[in-house]
Amino acid sequence: MNYDKNNVFYKIIHKEIPADIVLEGDHYIAIKDINPRTPVHILLIPKGNYVDYEDFASNATPEEIVNFHRGIGRIVEMMNLRSGGFKLLSNAGPFVYQYIEGQQVMHMHLHILGG
Ligand code: 5GP
Repeated sequence: MNYDKNNVFYKIIHKEIPADIVLEGDHYIAIKDINPRTPVHILLIPKGNYVDYEDFASNATPEEIVNFHRGIGRIVEMMNLRSGGFKLLSNAGPFVYQYIEGQQVMHMHLHILGG
């Protein structure tokens, strides 16, 4: 699937629309989900134009991949998620099953769920 810049996370990354930003690194931005499903619900989003996790893992540079994943630990620390535990989730494409939702925003992101 080709990347389409007309998506909300592209606009947030490029500061065209506001978001509650909790952390920003060279290659990622972390924001609070607008519709949190858990007490802490953060979206970790790479700044590069990748459709989903598989696209990111296959095509991002090693620096982007490492920098992005180091962001997880920083969020876990900031949001105090280590002791209580947390979940990482990334939707790709339309697959839905029972309570499992499909991907709504076609820019790669990782849900960090906890609290
Ligand atoms: P997906 O289903 O694509 O994995 O998840 C997209 C997530 O983005 C959803 O949890 C949804 O609540 C969140 N979201 C959609 N639009 C916005 C927005 O404009 N701002 C923020 N902060 N989150 C959004």
